[in-house]
Amino acid sequence: MQCPCNPENLYESCCQKAHNNINTVNTPEELMRSRYSAFVLANMDYLQKSHHSSTRPNKREKREIEAWTKTVNWLKLEVLKTTMGKISDTAGTVEFKAFYIENGKMAVIHENSNFTRENGHWVYVNGKHKA
Ligand SMILES: [Zn+2]
Repeated sequence: MQCPCNPENLYESCCQKAHNNINTVNTPEELMRSRYSAFVLANMDYLQKSHHSSTRPNKREKREIEAWTKTVNWLKLEVLKTTMGKISDTAGTVEFKAFYIENGKMAVIHENSNFTRENGHWVYVNGKHKA
């Protein structure tokens, strides 16, 4: 199967590696891509694991996110810009657009996300929506 984050890649050679072992993720962009793919696949365990403990959704929010993402038809991910996030960094940002169809209408999430390391791997902290 194609990888949800990039149809030019096979899932097994792209985000599946992260979904099987989050410690294989090298950069915030890879983590962002693997989280997008997890939204597409409704892989809630991975979405929780890849979320910083201080901002991680609670059980009720997790159920709401799962219900929502299953009603949405995800179209594609565009990574616009990344800062830092090299091997030696402890923080990084990824600006992205995620396109989807909800209730028959196209919608887009345009966000600049913050990433840091926790328990030795990259995690998503929070994001600022862009107009
Ligand atoms: Zn991927």
